[in-house]
Amino acid sequence: MAARGANQIMPDSAYRGRFAPSPTGPLHFGSLLAALGSWLFARQAGGAWLVRVEDLDPPREVPGSAAQQLATLDAFGLVPDEPVWRQSRRGDAYAAALARLEAAGLTFACRCSRADLSASGGLHRACTTHANDRHPAIRMRVEDGCRIAFVDGLRGALAQDLHHAVGDFVLRRREGYIAYQLAVVVDDAAQGITDVVRGIDLLDSTPRQLWLQRLLGFATPRYMHLPVVVRPDGEKLSKQTGAAGVDTREASTLASRALACLGHPPPAELAGAAPAEL
Ligand code: GLU
Repeated sequence: MAARGANQIMPDSAYRGRFAPSPTGPLHFGSLLAALGSWLFARQAGGAWLVRVEDLDPPREVPGSAAQQLATLDAFGLVPDEPVWRQSRRGDAYAAALARLEAAGLTFACRCSRADLSASGGLHRACTTHANDRHPAIRMRVEDGCRIAFVDGLRGALAQDLHHAVGDFVLRRREGYIAYQLAVVVDDAAQGITDVVRGIDLLDSTPRQLWLQRLLGFATPRYMHLPVVVRPDGEKLSKQTGAAGVDTREASTLASRALACLGHPPPAELAGAAPAEL
Protein backbone atom coordinates (compact mmCIF):
# COMPACT_ATOMS: atom_id res chain seq x y z
CA MET A 1 0.00 0.00 0.00
CA ALA A 2 1.49 3.32 -1.01
CA ALA A 3 1.96 6.05 1.58
CA ARG A 4 0.48 9.34 0.60
CA GLY A 5 1.58 12.36 2.60
CA ALA A 6 -0.45 15.51 3.01
CA ASN A 7 1.60 17.30 0.36
CA GLN A 8 1.78 14.52 -2.19
CA ILE A 9 -1.76 14.28 -3.51
CA MET A 10 -1.83 14.24 -7.29
CA PRO A 11 -4.94 15.20 -9.26
CA ASP A 12 -6.93 11.98 -9.39
CA SER A 13 -10.52 12.11 -10.55
CA ALA A 14 -10.84 8.43 -9.55
CA TYR A 15 -10.40 9.54 -5.93
CA ARG A 16 -13.46 8.71 -3.82
CA GLY A 17 -13.53 9.84 -0.23
CA ARG A 18 -16.27 9.73 2.35
CA PHE A 19 -17.50 10.92 5.73
CA ALA A 20 -19.50 8.34 7.67
CA PRO A 21 -21.09 9.74 10.82
CA SER A 22 -23.14 7.66 13.24
CA PRO A 23 -26.40 9.47 14.07
CA THR A 24 -25.91 9.40 17.81
CA GLY A 25 -26.14 13.16 18.35
CA PRO A 26 -25.34 16.49 16.70
CA LEU A 27 -22.03 16.96 14.87
CA HIS A 28 -19.50 18.38 17.31
CA PHE A 29 -16.36 20.29 16.36
CA GLY A 30 -14.30 17.08 16.23
CA SER A 31 -16.63 15.48 13.68
CA LEU A 32 -16.66 18.71 11.69
CA LEU A 33 -12.88 18.50 11.49
CA ALA A 34 -13.00 14.91 10.20
CA ALA A 35 -15.68 15.86 7.66
CA LEU A 36 -13.71 18.91 6.49
CA GLY A 37 -10.45 16.94 6.32
CA SER A 38 -11.94 14.22 4.12
CA TRP A 39 -13.73 16.82 1.97
CA LEU A 40 -10.54 18.85 1.45
CA PHE A 41 -8.54 15.83 0.28
CA ALA A 42 -11.32 14.82 -2.11
CA ARG A 43 -11.55 18.37 -3.50
CA GLN A 44 -7.79 18.70 -3.84
CA ALA A 45 -7.70 15.44 -5.79
CA GLY A 46 -10.58 16.54 -8.03
CA GLY A 47 -12.48 13.44 -6.93
CA ALA A 48 -15.81 12.69 -5.29
CA TRP A 49 -16.81 13.11 -1.64
CA LEU A 50 -19.60 10.94 -0.25
CA VAL A 51 -21.57 10.91 2.97
CA ARG A 52 -22.86 7.71 4.54
CA VAL A 53 -25.16 7.65 7.54
CA GLU A 54 -24.00 4.77 9.76
CA ASP A 55 -27.35 4.07 11.40
CA LEU A 56 -26.72 0.46 12.36
CA ASP A 57 -27.19 0.72 16.09
CA PRO A 58 -30.81 1.64 16.87
CA PRO A 59 -30.37 1.65 20.68
CA ARG A 60 -27.65 4.33 20.39
CA GLU A 61 -29.37 6.34 17.68
CA VAL A 62 -30.76 9.76 18.58
CA PRO A 63 -33.92 10.39 16.54
CA GLY A 64 -33.54 13.31 14.17
CA SER A 65 -29.76 13.48 14.47
CA ALA A 66 -29.03 12.12 10.97
CA ALA A 67 -31.05 14.94 9.40
CA GLN A 68 -29.46 17.44 11.77
CA GLN A 69 -25.94 16.22 10.89
CA LEU A 70 -26.65 16.52 7.17
CA ALA A 71 -28.06 20.03 7.64
CA THR A 72 -24.94 21.00 9.58
CA LEU A 73 -22.66 19.70 6.83
CA ASP A 74 -24.71 21.67 4.33
CA ALA A 75 -24.36 24.87 6.38
CA PHE A 76 -20.58 24.44 6.19
CA GLY A 77 -20.69 23.94 2.43
CA LEU A 78 -19.80 20.25 2.76
CA VAL A 79 -22.18 18.91 0.16
CA PRO A 80 -21.86 15.27 -0.96
CA ASP A 81 -21.39 14.57 -4.66
CA GLU A 82 -23.74 11.57 -4.65
CA PRO A 83 -26.93 10.60 -2.80
CA VAL A 84 -26.40 9.84 0.88
CA TRP A 85 -26.35 6.13 1.75
CA ARG A 86 -27.93 4.79 4.92
CA GLN A 87 -26.60 1.61 6.45
CA SER A 88 -30.04 0.74 7.81
CA ARG A 89 -31.06 -0.04 4.20
CA ARG A 90 -28.07 -2.23 3.42
CA GLY A 91 -28.93 -5.31 5.47
CA ASP A 92 -28.96 -7.70 2.48
CA ALA A 93 -25.43 -6.73 1.45
CA TYR A 94 -24.12 -7.27 5.00
CA ALA A 95 -25.93 -10.61 5.29
CA ALA A 96 -24.38 -11.76 1.99
CA ALA A 97 -20.87 -10.82 3.16
CA LEU A 98 -21.42 -12.53 6.50
CA ALA A 99 -22.68 -15.66 4.72
CA ARG A 100 -19.48 -15.76 2.64
CA LEU A 101 -17.29 -15.58 5.74
CA GLU A 102 -19.43 -18.25 7.43
CA ALA A 103 -19.28 -20.52 4.38
CA ALA A 104 -15.47 -20.19 4.40
CA GLY A 105 -15.44 -21.46 7.99
CA LEU A 106 -13.97 -18.20 9.31
CA THR A 107 -16.67 -17.43 11.87
CA PHE A 108 -18.32 -19.06 14.85
CA ALA A 109 -21.39 -18.59 17.04
CA CYS A 110 -20.50 -17.31 20.50
CA ARG A 111 -22.63 -17.23 23.62
CA CYS A 112 -20.06 -15.59 25.89
CA SER A 113 -21.23 -12.55 27.81
CA ARG A 114 -19.14 -9.48 28.61
CA ALA A 115 -18.71 -10.80 32.16
CA ASP A 116 -17.40 -14.13 30.78
CA LEU A 117 -14.65 -12.22 28.98
CA SER A 118 -13.62 -9.97 31.86
CA ALA A 119 -10.77 -12.33 32.83
CA SER A 120 -9.18 -11.73 29.39
CA GLY A 121 -9.67 -7.96 29.47
CA GLY A 122 -12.80 -8.22 27.31
CA LEU A 123 -10.88 -9.88 24.46
CA HIS A 124 -12.19 -13.15 23.06
CA ARG A 125 -9.66 -15.85 22.20
CA ALA A 126 -11.75 -18.93 23.02
CA CYS A 127 -15.30 -19.44 24.22
CA THR A 128 -15.52 -19.68 27.98
CA THR A 129 -19.26 -20.43 27.94
CA HIS A 130 -20.95 -23.00 25.78
CA ALA A 131 -24.50 -24.26 26.27
CA ASN A 132 -26.83 -21.50 27.44
CA ASP A 133 -29.98 -20.01 26.03
CA ARG A 134 -28.44 -16.68 25.05
CA HIS A 135 -28.91 -15.76 21.44
CA PRO A 136 -25.40 -16.12 19.95
CA ALA A 137 -23.27 -13.42 18.46
CA ILE A 138 -21.27 -14.29 15.34
CA ARG A 139 -17.56 -13.70 15.76
CA MET A 140 -14.65 -13.71 13.37
CA ARG A 141 -12.01 -16.25 14.37
CA VAL A 142 -8.60 -14.59 14.73
CA GLU A 143 -5.82 -17.14 14.82
CA ASP A 144 -2.55 -16.59 16.66
CA GLY A 145 -0.02 -14.97 14.36
CA CYS A 146 -2.53 -12.85 12.42
CA ARG A 147 -0.48 -9.68 11.96
CA ILE A 148 -1.75 -6.90 9.73
CA ALA A 149 0.62 -4.21 8.44
CA PHE A 150 -0.37 -1.07 6.57
CA VAL A 151 0.80 2.44 5.79
CA ASP A 152 -1.15 5.36 7.19
CA GLY A 153 -0.97 8.54 5.10
CA LEU A 154 0.09 10.61 8.11
CA ARG A 155 1.59 8.15 10.54
CA GLY A 156 3.53 5.93 8.16
CA ALA A 157 4.07 2.18 8.54
CA LEU A 158 1.98 0.53 11.26
CA ALA A 159 1.13 -3.02 12.22
CA GLN A 160 -1.19 -4.76 14.65
CA ASP A 161 -1.20 -8.31 15.96
CA LEU A 162 -4.93 -8.94 15.69
CA HIS A 163 -4.95 -12.02 17.90
CA HIS A 164 -3.28 -10.28 20.81
CA ALA A 165 -4.67 -6.77 20.43
CA VAL A 166 -8.24 -7.51 19.36
CA GLY A 167 -9.08 -11.22 19.61
CA ASP A 168 -12.07 -12.85 17.92
CA PHE A 169 -14.24 -9.86 17.04
CA VAL A 170 -17.97 -9.58 16.60
CA LEU A 171 -19.48 -9.46 13.12
CA ARG A 172 -23.12 -9.75 14.18
CA ARG A 173 -24.17 -8.82 17.67
CA ARG A 174 -26.39 -11.09 19.72
CA GLU A 175 -29.27 -8.62 19.27
CA GLY A 176 -28.95 -9.30 15.52
CA TYR A 177 -27.30 -6.00 14.54
CA ILE A 178 -24.40 -6.14 12.10
CA ALA A 179 -21.19 -4.81 13.65
CA TYR A 180 -19.56 -1.62 12.40
CA GLN A 181 -16.38 -3.47 11.28
CA LEU A 182 -18.22 -5.58 8.74
CA ALA A 183 -20.67 -2.93 7.53
CA VAL A 184 -17.98 -0.32 6.95
CA VAL A 185 -15.91 -2.75 4.85
CA VAL A 186 -18.88 -3.82 2.74
CA ASP A 187 -19.93 -0.22 2.12
CA ASP A 188 -16.47 1.22 1.46
CA ALA A 189 -16.11 -1.50 -1.21
CA ALA A 190 -19.62 -1.07 -2.63
CA GLN A 191 -19.13 2.71 -2.89
CA GLY A 192 -15.69 2.31 -4.48
CA ILE A 193 -13.99 4.36 -1.76
CA THR A 194 -10.32 4.84 -2.61
CA ASP A 195 -9.34 7.00 0.36
CA VAL A 196 -10.53 6.88 3.94
CA VAL A 197 -9.69 10.05 5.88
CA ARG A 198 -11.05 9.91 9.44
CA GLY A 199 -10.17 10.51 13.08
CA ILE A 200 -7.31 8.72 14.74
CA ASP A 201 -9.75 7.23 17.25
CA LEU A 202 -10.57 4.72 14.49
CA LEU A 203 -6.94 3.75 13.80
CA ASP A 204 -7.28 0.68 15.98
CA SER A 205 -10.15 -0.59 13.77
CA THR A 206 -8.22 -0.31 10.50
CA PRO A 207 -6.33 -3.65 10.68
CA ARG A 208 -9.63 -5.51 11.25
CA GLN A 209 -11.04 -3.77 8.23
CA LEU A 210 -8.01 -4.56 6.08
CA TRP A 211 -8.24 -8.18 7.07
CA LEU A 212 -11.94 -8.44 6.24
CA GLN A 213 -11.29 -6.74 2.89
CA ARG A 214 -8.66 -9.34 2.09
CA LEU A 215 -10.88 -12.27 3.03
CA LEU A 216 -13.83 -10.89 1.08
CA GLY A 217 -11.68 -10.08 -1.97
CA PHE A 218 -12.31 -6.32 -1.74
CA ALA A 219 -9.80 -3.64 -2.70
CA THR A 220 -8.16 -1.85 0.21
CA PRO A 221 -8.45 1.95 0.21
CA ARG A 222 -5.62 4.23 1.34
CA TYR A 223 -6.07 5.34 4.96
CA MET A 224 -5.23 8.56 6.69
CA HIS A 225 -6.08 9.15 10.33
CA LEU A 226 -6.30 12.78 11.42
CA PRO A 227 -5.62 13.96 14.97
CA VAL A 228 -8.81 14.34 17.01
CA VAL A 229 -9.86 17.39 18.96
CA VAL A 230 -9.38 17.04 22.72
CA ARG A 231 -10.77 19.02 25.62
CA PRO A 232 -8.36 20.95 27.87
CA ASP A 233 -8.24 17.88 30.16
CA GLY A 234 -7.01 15.75 27.26
CA GLU A 235 -10.28 13.82 26.85
CA LYS A 236 -11.40 13.34 23.22
CA LEU A 237 -14.29 15.54 22.19
CA SER A 238 -17.14 13.09 21.71
CA LYS A 239 -20.87 12.71 21.99
CA GLN A 240 -20.30 10.33 24.91
CA THR A 241 -18.48 13.03 26.87
CA GLY A 242 -21.27 15.47 26.09
CA ALA A 243 -19.59 17.59 23.39
CA ALA A 244 -21.95 20.29 22.15
CA GLY A 245 -23.09 20.32 18.54
CA VAL A 246 -21.53 22.97 16.32
CA ASP A 247 -23.66 26.09 16.04
CA THR A 248 -24.32 26.76 12.36
CA ARG A 249 -24.89 30.45 13.15
CA GLU A 250 -21.16 30.51 13.93
CA ALA A 251 -20.30 28.70 10.68
CA SER A 252 -17.80 31.32 9.50
CA THR A 253 -15.80 31.38 12.74
CA LEU A 254 -15.94 27.63 13.19
CA ALA A 255 -14.95 26.92 9.59
CA SER A 256 -11.92 29.23 10.00
CA ARG A 257 -11.01 27.51 13.24
CA ALA A 258 -11.38 24.05 11.67
CA LEU A 259 -9.17 25.06 8.73
CA ALA A 260 -6.58 26.40 11.18
CA CYS A 261 -6.67 23.11 13.12
CA LEU A 262 -5.92 21.28 9.88
CA GLY A 263 -2.92 23.54 9.26
CA HIS A 264 -4.61 25.93 6.81
CA PRO A 265 -5.52 29.12 8.71
CA PRO A 266 -7.42 31.36 6.28
CA PRO A 267 -5.81 34.74 5.47
CA ALA A 268 -6.90 37.65 7.66
CA GLU A 269 -8.81 39.34 4.84
CA LEU A 270 -11.22 36.38 4.80
CA ALA A 271 -12.26 36.97 8.42
CA GLY A 272 -16.05 36.68 8.56
CA ALA A 273 -16.32 35.12 5.08
CA ALA A 274 -18.96 32.44 4.49
CA PRO A 275 -17.72 28.81 4.62
CA ALA A 276 -18.14 28.36 0.86
CA GLU A 277 -15.80 31.30 0.21
CA LEU A 278 -13.32 30.08 2.82
N1 GLU B 1 -19.42 5.85 11.97
C1 GLU B 1 -18.13 5.98 12.57
C2 GLU B 1 -18.16 7.07 13.61
O1 GLU B 1 -19.03 7.93 13.59
C3 GLU B 1 -17.04 6.37 11.59
C4 GLU B 1 -16.76 5.31 10.63
C5 GLU B 1 -15.59 5.54 9.69
O2 GLU B 1 -15.26 6.69 9.34
O3 GLU B 1 -15.03 4.54 9.29
O4 GLU B 1 -17.30 7.07 14.48
